[in-house]
Amino acid sequence: MRRRRKIKILATLGPASENRDTIKALFEAGADVFRLNMSHGTHEDIRRKHEHIRAVEAEVGRPIGILADLQGPKLRVGEFQEKSYILKEGQKFTLDSDKTPGNQERVCIPHPEILSVLTPGNSLLVNDGKIRLKVLEATPTKAVTEVIVGGEISNRKGVNVPDVELPLAALSEKDRRDLEFVCELGIDWLALSFVQRAEDVLEAKELVKGRALIMAKIEKPKAVERIMAITEVADGIMVARGDLGVELPVSEVPPVQKRLIRTARSYGKPVVVATQMLESMIHSPVPTRAEVSDVANAIYEGADAVMLSAESAAGEYPVESVKMMDSVAVTIESDPPYRRIIEAGRPPADPTVSDAITAAAREVAETANVRAICTLTHSGTTALRCSRERPRVPILAMTPIEKTARRLCLAWGLHCVICKPVNRFKAAVAESLHYVVEDNFAVEGDKIIVTAG
Ligand code: PEP
Repeated sequence: MRRRRKIKILATLGPASENRDTIKALFEAGADVFRLNMSHGTHEDIRRKHEHIRAVEAEVGRPIGILADLQGPKLRVGEFQEKSYILKEGQKFTLDSDKTPGNQERVCIPHPEILSVLTPGNSLLVNDGKIRLKVLEATPTKAVTEVIVGGEISNRKGVNVPDVELPLAALSEKDRRDLEFVCELGIDWLALSFVQRAEDVLEAKELVKGRALIMAKIEKPKAVERIMAITEVADGIMVARGDLGVELPVSEVPPVQKRLIRTARSYGKPVVVATQMLESMIHSPVPTRAEVSDVANAIYEGADAVMLSAESAAGEYPVESVKMMDSVAVTIESDPPYRRIIEAGRPPADPTVSDAITAAAREVAETANVRAICTLTHSGTTALRCSRERPRVPILAMTPIEKTARRLCLAWGLHCVICKPVNRFKAAVAESLHYVVEDNFAVEGDKIIVTAG
């Protein structure tokens, strides 16, 4: 089976989609990688989803990627005496270290390290940015704030502190337990939430020990500022527009998205555009025109993958959402300006043998009516360099290593194949010939290109 598009689809699993039949339907509709959200469910729930994905993979005979998304050091307020309170514009509201249940005037913020860095003038955003507070006075045990934008506040609502670098460990205790659990289970990508600095990624890498690739979720202004350093050490990045749009004015999200995609493309590392892509499809069988435009933009910008969150995890139309993304991608990628835009954004080849070969392979393929580029790869690096070229022709990433094939499922344009181990170029050619025909990329008489390290 082959996809009719280059961009990949990442679908989050949840109550609406975690049974085996729906996972299979999502794969057949176009999902290339599944996301396990560690913010929800027990380890047993995660294990079950993982088992179902691997069972579907065996049944369909194609590698499928799994990305586990750690919750990260998510800040939350404590608990209240009543179910909820309405904070009014202009009133004072205090966040403190007193664990007794809160009321209309105060609530505990169970993160002493936050109180220690707040200064007058800082903003605090509660409940996905719906409530905005401005710090008036700050001590290590309490922050008195003024309510700038009011709203409903209740137990354990999330808090964002956009203009402060938080002295928080990159990984909470829960993250460390989850990391070990999923790495032992066998995942392909591990996504880190609320990355602030390159060191956060390096810390996770030390714990992961090569068992998965690391994706840095970019959702903090500090991470945007340090995007080069973070992309340099991560294996991929995610434009996590949910929290990004809380921490930054929403109008800044589109230019930041473009910048992050350009940066990741220049490093040749996969970049995923996430959140609210087809949000209305949570309850509607058709998306809004604006949502379709949003997915189309990510495709024109050259992202490696687009992601579904609640649409596939908890919505009423998970399979239809994947089908919709697939059909938008097929349409956009066959639009003639699409190629011109992708080519205009192609970063120059690095001065390495591997880039010289992949750039040459693309040139030859596009000049000489070649049907496919087959790249034999062990670690996946050469296949990623080939994907970075964004060639017009399909790329078959051929590897004898199952783990590599699964990891590469997230990268633009790669049709991943688990082939026999080959140690001579002649054998590489034979394997390539077999798979281009078997997977319907070429017929007898067509030309293909084979590259190998
Ligand atoms: C986001 O904030 O856009 C995101 C992908 O993260 P999460 O869904 O974990 O909040």
